[in-house]
Amino acid sequence: MSKEESTATIHKRGLVMLITGNGKGKTTSAFGQALRAVGQGYRVCIIQFMKGRKYGEVLALEKYLPEVDLFQFGLDSFVMRGNPAPVDVDLARQGFAKAKEVVNSGDYDMVILDEINTAADFNLIPLEEVLEFIKNKPQDLDLILTGRYAPEPMQEMADMVSEVREIKHHYAAGIKDRAGIEY
Ligand code: ATP
Ligand code: MG
Repeated sequence: MSKEESTATIHKRGLVMLITGNGKGKTTSAFGQALRAVGQGYRVCIIQFMKGRKYGEVLALEKYLPEVDLFQFGLDSFVMRGNPAPVDVDLARQGFAKAKEVVNSGDYDMVILDEINTAADFNLIPLEEVLEFIKNKPQDLDLILTGRYAPEPMQEMADMVSEVREIKHHYAAGIKDRAGIEY
């Protein structure tokens, strides 16, 4: 199948895919999906909420897959649930404005909004606006939403919901963040 055929066939109905849960593997799963999609000729854009660090996946895209567009809206520090700093709210809203822009630009087949579930749960972005945004997405666009604590109404709107559940994590054994594993 040629690139043109594959995108045309697959994109008759875009999907909303949501990955949530308290285990490790949500963001890396979304990036894995991006890799698969790029291999099939999709134009992919990734927006990261509440993140500002040059994670391994960001470095890899810059170096090996510069055709994937990635935008970060966040600081390299934790956001406090219930008491976010004004700058965190501001950055999340900027990220959401960017998400609307790229989704409606027609420039992409797949848009990944990494940690938007958490941004909605933390009230950095009003949930109602996120729901409206999902409802109005262009029909042929695939939308991927990640982050723990995905609000129930977001899950209801999705075509696919996967929960990554922690069974165990090396953190509990005192094994700290490692380059190439955590970032
Ligand atoms: P990853 O980016 O590795 O796919 P994730 O997106 O599922 O993880 P997040 O909730 O976004 O997880 O948290 C990001 C960071 O927190 C990662 O460095 C990850 O290793 C770590 N982490 C994820 N789940 C857990 C957990 N259950 N206990 C401790 N640390 C965790
Ligand atoms: Mg994540």
